[in-house]
This record gives sequence, C-alpha cells and structure tokens, in this order.
Amino acid sequence: MQITIDNKSSYCFGVKNAIGQAGAMLDEDGTLFSLGKIVHNQQEVERLGARGLKVISYEEFAKLRDCKVLIRAHGEPPSTYETAYRNNITLIDATCPIVKHLQRKVKNLFETLEETNGQVVIYGKKNHPEVNGLAGQTNDQAVVVSTERDIGKIDPEKAVHLYAQTTMNPQDYELIARQITAYLKEKNPGKAPQIHMHDTICRQVSNRIAHLEKFATSHEVLLFVSGKDSSNGRFLFEVCRKANPASYHIEDHTGIDPAWFKQVKTTGISGATSTPMWLMQRVKDFLMNNFA
Ligand code: SF4
Repeated sequence: MQITIDNKSSYCFGVKNAIGQAGAMLDEDGTLFSLGKIVHNQQEVERLGARGLKVISYEEFAKLRDCKVLIRAHGEPPSTYETAYRNNITLIDATCPIVKHLQRKVKNLFETLEETNGQVVIYGKKNHPEVNGLAGQTNDQAVVVSTERDIGKIDPEKAVHLYAQTTMNPQDYELIARQITAYLKEKNPGKAPQIHMHDTICRQVSNRIAHLEKFATSHEVLLFVSGKDSSNGRFLFEVCRKANPASYHIEDHTGIDPAWFKQVKTTGISGATSTPMWLMQRVKDFLMNNFA
C-alpha cells in the first residue's frame, strides 16, 4: 500500500509559534505553566507535559504568584493580564498575531459604540477561549452567537457589528449573517438593516479546503488525524468526508480499524492545524509495519 502524508497539513504558524515559545522556555527553565491546553491535541500536550509544561485552570492561575505562565495562541481577555500583573506573574504571550489584531479591532470598535448606538456580535463557539478573549475586549458585553437560536439575544434597535472566531467556516459565517439580517428586517419593517460585517476568519484553515478535497479524492482511504475537540479538525474532517466517504477521523494509530484497508492500494494521511507532524508520521509507520 502506498501511504502519503499531506505536506500541507499540520500546524498553522500561530500554533507553531506557541509550541516554539513553550519549547524555548522549557529549554531555559525546565518548567512552565500553560493556561489551558496549548493545543487541542492530547498527544502533543502529553509530550510537552513530559518536558515540564503543566496545564493549569483559571482557578489555579488565580492562586499563582511569582512564576511564568504561557498564554496560548487563542489569546486571553484583559482580566488575565490584570491578574498576572497583580500576582507578579510573567506572561509568555504566544497569542497568535492574527488573534491579537482581531482583539484590537474589537476593542477599538467597542470604544466607539456608545456614540454610534451599536453592538458587537461574535459568531463563534460559546466558552471557546478565543471567543472569551474577544468578548473580554468589550467587558463581556458582546453578544455571542453560536447558532441561529442565539440570534434573539441581539438588540434589534442597535446596529450590529458582526465578527467571527478565526476558525469558523466561511460559509456558515455568510449564513448566520443572512439570518441576522432577516431578523433585523423582521423586527424593523421598512428600515434598512444595520449590519456591518467583519469577516475575521483565518485563511490558514479555509485555504486548506481546496487542497484537502483534492488530496482526499486522490487516495482510496483518507485518515484524518486530530483531537476530537479541535474545531478546525472537525471542520476539515468534514471536508475530507464529503470529498471521499472512505475518510476516517482518528486521534492516533490506536483508532485504526484494519477493515478499512481491505484491497486498498493508496492511503492519505492529513491533519488539523493542531496536529503535530510527528503524530502523522507515527500513524504512517504503524500502517507501513502492519499493512504495507
Ligand atoms: S488558525 Fe489562524 S488565527 Fe488561529 S492560531 Fe492558526 S494562524 Fe492563528
């Protein structure tokens, strides 16, 4: 069986940067706290854990003093920086530059809203750390919309400034924008809907779609390796599944079912922006040793 790893998969530059910063600090100090998991990939969390990276919760963070804590690529709300300042914690800030830029945009706009009678609406996953970081720029006054059901929380009397969590699907963003527009029209008949769209989706994910469709269809079987809790992992796996029904989502080689490879001559391996290349290589080695 011919087995190929997708050379356009694995870490985006935001995650690569965060892992690089963590690695450099671990080389220097031998230990480092990470506020939440550095990446939605348990195997990588365990590898870095063995090197001294300790994942902490927000409750644990609030009790720490005089130490170093890593902020992951998702970013954090201002309250995290305030806690660090109060408790003499040095932050190793690995917020992705794209997320940082988005946080600034949301904050700057929020500061003008009193005069312009508007509201910030964030299309994203509730309680996702990036969304919490963005909502924090508005003193948590932003309306978070995850599905159509949340649209009723939007004040129809105020202009909507619609942003998106960076890893959302662009088509879903367009759809939710249309649904919000319809809601505003329904609530204000005869008035033009006041909606300002800020498409803040990171193209590091969506730019992979066309390539991934091609990669999935050019192999009989496609193994997609990623944490099941990775947003972009679930999204990119769906892209594979639609292109090639013989696509399987696994977290590592232990999820492989031998029945998938009966009379199969080509298998492709791809992964999310949070999947380390070494993990895909391990899956490939397993296939080579057992099925090639
Ligand atoms: S997906 Fe984009 S925004 Fe998110 S960490 Fe990667 S590069 Fe940054």
